[in-house]
Amino acid sequence: MRKYVIMGPQGSGKGTQAGRLARGYDLVHISVGDIFRWHVQNRTKLGTRVQRYMNEGRLVPDEMVSDVVKWRLDIHDWRHGFVLDGFPRNAPQTEFFVESYDIDAVIAIALPEETAIARIQSRRLCSSCGLDYNLIQLRPHVPGVCDNCGGRLVTRADDTPEAIRTRLAEYHEKTRPILELLRAKELIVSVDGTPAPDVVQAEIRRKLKLVDAPGPANEPSAAVEAIR
Ligand code: AMP
Repeated sequence: MRKYVIMGPQGSGKGTQAGRLARGYDLVHISVGDIFRWHVQNRTKLGTRVQRYMNEGRLVPDEMVSDVVKWRLDIHDWRHGFVLDGFPRNAPQTEFFVESYDIDAVIAIALPEETAIARIQSRRLCSSCGLDYNLIQLRPHVPGVCDNCGGRLVTRADDTPEAIRTRLAEYHEKTRPILELLRAKELIVSVDGTPAPDVVQAEIRRKLKLVDAPGPANEPSAAVEAIR
C-alpha cells in the first residue's frame, strides 16, 4: 500500500505528475480541485458554494474541503494506494490530515514563480472530458480540440491574471509554510518541476525508490494525460 500527497504551486504539474504516478503503480488519483470542478459543472449545492472562491483563486473554507476529502477517502476504492493532489493546503488541513491518515511521502514540486505564471497562462482544459493541456509542453494535435474526445478546449475559469495572482499568494502564504511542518516529520520528497514532464516523473519515482515498478515514466502524447 502506497499513500502519497503531491504539493506544489499552481502550474507546477501536480495533476500531470500525480496522474502518471497513479497509472504507473495502479494507485487512485484523487484531485480535490477536480472534485470541486465536477460539483461546479453539475451545479450541485456544494458547487454553488465553492464556485465564487474558486473563480477568485481563493481557498475554499476548511470545513467544506475536509468533508469532501473525508468523503472521498472513505470510499476506499484503492487496492494499492492513492495519490492525493491539492490537499492539504494550509495548517488546519494538515493537522486534520496528519492525525487521521498514515502517509508514506509528500512529493513537493518546486517551480520559479515566472515559470508557474507562464505555464498557467498556457493551460487549456477539455470542456467535455476534463483532460489537461499545456500549449508549451503538452499541445493537442489539432489546436483547440481535445485529442481524447474531440471536445472544445477552454481556459479554466480561475486562470485569469487576477485569480492566478491570488492563488500564488495563497500558496506562498498558506501552503508553503506547511512544507516545513511536513519536513520536520521527514515526509517530504523534493523535486524540481522545471524539466519536461517525463524527467520530473522519473525523478519522483527515483526519489520514492520506485524505479523497479511496472508503469512507464514517459507517455507518448497529451491524449493519455489526466484521464482520471
Ligand atoms: P486546483 O485544481 O488544485 O488548482 O484547485 C482549484 C481550486 O479549488 C483552488 O484554487 C481552490 O479554490 C479550490 N481548492 C482545491 N483544493 C483545495 C484545498 N485543499 N483547500 C481549499 N481550497 C481548495
